[in-house]
Amino acid sequence: MFNNARCQVISRISIICLLFILFSTVAALGFYGLNESTLSIIKDTFLPASTQESKTEPVESVRPDQPRYCLSEKIADLPPNDIALFDMFTVQERKAQGLPTALLEVDPFYGDKVAYLTFDDGPNKDNTPLVLEILRKNKIKATFFVLGTQVENNAELVKEIYQDGHAIGNHTYSHVYRELYQSPDIYIQQLYHNDELIKKILGVRPRISRAPGGSAGNFTKAYWPRLKSEGYIEVGWNVSSGDASAGKANDIRDNVISQLEANKALWSHAIILMHDGSGHGETVKALPAIIQYLKEQGFTFRVVNAQTPPAW
Ligand SMILES: [Zn+2]
Repeated sequence: MFNNARCQVISRISIICLLFILFSTVAALGFYGLNESTLSIIKDTFLPASTQESKTEPVESVRPDQPRYCLSEKIADLPPNDIALFDMFTVQERKAQGLPTALLEVDPFYGDKVAYLTFDDGPNKDNTPLVLEILRKNKIKATFFVLGTQVENNAELVKEIYQDGHAIGNHTYSHVYRELYQSPDIYIQQLYHNDELIKKILGVRPRISRAPGGSAGNFTKAYWPRLKSEGYIEVGWNVSSGDASAGKANDIRDNVISQLEANKALWSHAIILMHDGSGHGETVKALPAIIQYLKEQGFTFRVVNAQTPPAW
């Protein structure tokens, strides 16, 4: 009996409260007017994102935890230094929509002692997770020039690289020299192919690229204006770890150290070539010692982007 009476009192109070809230809302709307901004506040507050009008801008499918810079329609402002650079659109999408493809000219950044750790030919299920772990431990951001054939099979690793805030570069689809270097057109098609694969995974695509085997001896003069007009930043290296010729971890470390000691002009922008592709377990073993040496010398570490100076 007592409980029933209490319930009735509570429910009456609740009804009065609800009526009061309703009345206040109607009064407020009447006072301020149900204009555009009121409607949009209501919509943003109460409607789930999926039921709202779809925006025309493409949306990244993966949200990185780390800062990165992503070009949208216009290429009006310069990407900030030392942040990985990506693009919401592929070159073909830019062309189809009449958007600019070429990047703005940027002054190269020369620091006191700056190292760019770069890893080619991955991602690879054995080596890339270990490289990522070493970089995490050392709080270093690096650059991964990924290969289309590997991107196809290792989507999760591509995401992981991106989410850790590293830069990603396009290392072509196939890496087969006799195909790639037949003509600039074929080379560009290979970059497009890999861009598509990366964009399917991340919702964005890279702007930096690296020619397998390097541009020297592979590119004819005709490759450079094509790459520039398509907006690719071709990235070489000036320190080779020599890990492509199957050295042991100590040899790989010594290769890096001896080249840096022999040429201190490189210290302002030491772009170090390594591989995280298949069969490069020795590179993984050498990496902590290479990082230790660079840290002891006072190097800071940057990701490759539009401000990275030419290697030579
Ligand atoms: Zn390669």
